[in-house]
Amino acid sequence: MEALATFKKELSSPKKIFITTHVKPDADALGSSLGLANYLIKKGHDVTVVTPTDYPYFLTWMKGNDSVLDFSLEKDKTLAVSKLEEAEMIFCLDFSVLNRVNELGEMIRKSKAYVVNIDHHQDPEDFADFRFWSTKAAATCELVYELIVELGDKALIDKDIAECLYAGIMTDTGGFRHPNTTKNVHLVVAELLDFGADTAQISNLIYDSNSVNRLKFIGFAITRRLVVREDLHTAYFVISKKDLKKYQSQTGDTEGLVNYALSLDGIKLAALFSEREDGIKISFRSSSDVAVNKFAASYFNGGGHKNAAGGKSAQSLKDTVERFESLVEKCQEELFHPETVTAG
Ligand code: 5GP
Ligand code: MN
Repeated sequence: MEALATFKKELSSPKKIFITTHVKPDADALGSSLGLANYLIKKGHDVTVVTPTDYPYFLTWMKGNDSVLDFSLEKDKTLAVSKLEEAEMIFCLDFSVLNRVNELGEMIRKSKAYVVNIDHHQDPEDFADFRFWSTKAAATCELVYELIVELGDKALIDKDIAECLYAGIMTDTGGFRHPNTTKNVHLVVAELLDFGADTAQISNLIYDSNSVNRLKFIGFAITRRLVVREDLHTAYFVISKKDLKKYQSQTGDTEGLVNYALSLDGIKLAALFSEREDGIKISFRSSSDVAVNKFAASYFNGGGHKNAAGGKSAQSLKDTVERFESLVEKCQEELFHPETVTAG
């Protein structure tokens, strides 16, 4: 309670505020950042949103997108650094460990600003002065909505803010299909509809804005790059740098691909390995009883949620995949029968 009171006091006068989110922001990361930014601007604060990297084109409709600074671009970096240095408050959204924001992480750790962490991932690192955090929340956008209500400013939510927040809740619940789609999710979304969120349009902007290349890439990946190991209840995609180049892949083009592997009957663990400039990026998805975040954290320097996690590997694509297969084989009991492991 004391921390909340201090936080409210910090926000009670106009502040220079720096908002950031995790690398390769998704709809929850960007939606929570811009939803919060639009609200704080209405309250009279001076707000800058900085992303550690670029993000998918299908998120650029959000209000405030044009002012976002991309720390990975030389043209934005200098301004972003000076905004961070002069910031009185720093908001870290949709991540709980500082290595999720690249170089910005150490700068935030050293900063004298008042640091706020709003997030729903497990095992948070202790870097914030105030944490508005719950793993029960389906999305960081849900928490931002609750924080605005907690601050007594529900009436300030407008259509733009509601649409940013709706986008994150819609995607982090997999279109209201995952087990994290709670009663509270529906209640919050009902409120966002009241504030004017055009849900059909947002769904269209996010899910139905494929380029021809992207659709062909998905077809190619399913036909040629899907490996199914029914004996291990596992299916995964292996995408090389060359594949990405061939289909002129843009940021966001591989998003959602891993779900096709999980959609197979009998498959409980799905993965996507994509070869990027800085190493192999891995996405994990699982059915409700399989905890991929633990697996990602133990073996692939990653983390996330129980059924949606990510990680990385510095090995070659081939070696990474071989290691993954042998690890799944080795960890079968704890992955697919965790109750037996705990009991034994
Ligand atoms: P995605 O597969 O969509 O990139 O990520 C799925 C989930 O895992 C997201 O909640 C994301 O924040 C988390 N995640 C992805 N990559 C990493 C990582 O390298 N480290 C950690 N701690 N979490 C990750
Ligand atoms: Mn999220």
